[in-house]
Amino acid sequence: MKLIDWHTHPYGHGEDELKPCQNMERLQDFITAAEIKGLDGIGFTDHEIYLEQFNFDNLEKIKREARIEVFIGIEFDYAPGRDTEIKKILDKYPFDFSIGSVHDIDDWSFDYDKYKDRWEEYDYEGLIEVNQEYYRLLDQAVNTGLFEIIGHLDLIKVFDYVIKDRVLVLEMVEPVLNSIKEQGAKLEINTNGLNKPVNELYPALDILKMARYKELEIVFSSDAHRPERVGENFDLLQKLMEIM
Ligand SMILES: [Zn+2]
Ligand SMILES: [Zn+2]
Repeated sequence: MKLIDWHTHPYGHGEDELKPCQNMERLQDFITAAEIKGLDGIGFTDHEIYLEQFNFDNLEKIKREARIEVFIGIEFDYAPGRDTEIKKILDKYPFDFSIGSVHDIDDWSFDYDKYKDRWEEYDYEGLIEVNQEYYRLLDQAVNTGLFEIIGHLDLIKVFDYVIKDRVLVLEMVEPVLNSIKEQGAKLEINTNGLNKPVNELYPALDILKMARYKELEIVFSSDAHRPERVGENFDLLQKLMEIM
């Protein structure tokens, strides 16, 4: 199996020092980091909100010139009703693949530090409802058929507000896994969860086990927003794939 980091963000969150978007030096830093880690390839998947600043000339140039495989991608923020708009973007630009993610419930960016206080408002029942809503949205995203990879499957746990009843969680997740399989999409194991308050891979190991049982196609991702994180903990993922 080729070792590829499918989910990276050279442009991060558009910080001033990373401008212009996808400049050659920054892309090269990510490639060099991938080479040092012994990766066979890397996917650049900057956030959709920066689409107007994407530099496809640079992306295509580095794709031609790099010694490892380079894939040009994008991470979408899925929300209901966005299907046509997303399809248009995919038709218009030379993307090799796309990641579909849910980062928002209604107008709440639930994984964003700035809005994390809102998590305190939920009692256990409320927490269950938020999780149900998240997985409902994610299932919708998967069923658009627009995404090759589904991003950080259980992102909803990011700030460690987790449902202790794992059977309940697996019941919420299972339809999404089934949809991923039906759509022929891929599930990523995203190591960035290990750097978050929840301190776990996305998805959690019991979900991953279920995905393996269902024979979903699995890919690795770091969600690196800086070169040092490219391919982070992929040795752990390789080990997991051996034993699961
Ligand atoms: Zn994301
Ligand atoms: Zn990401």
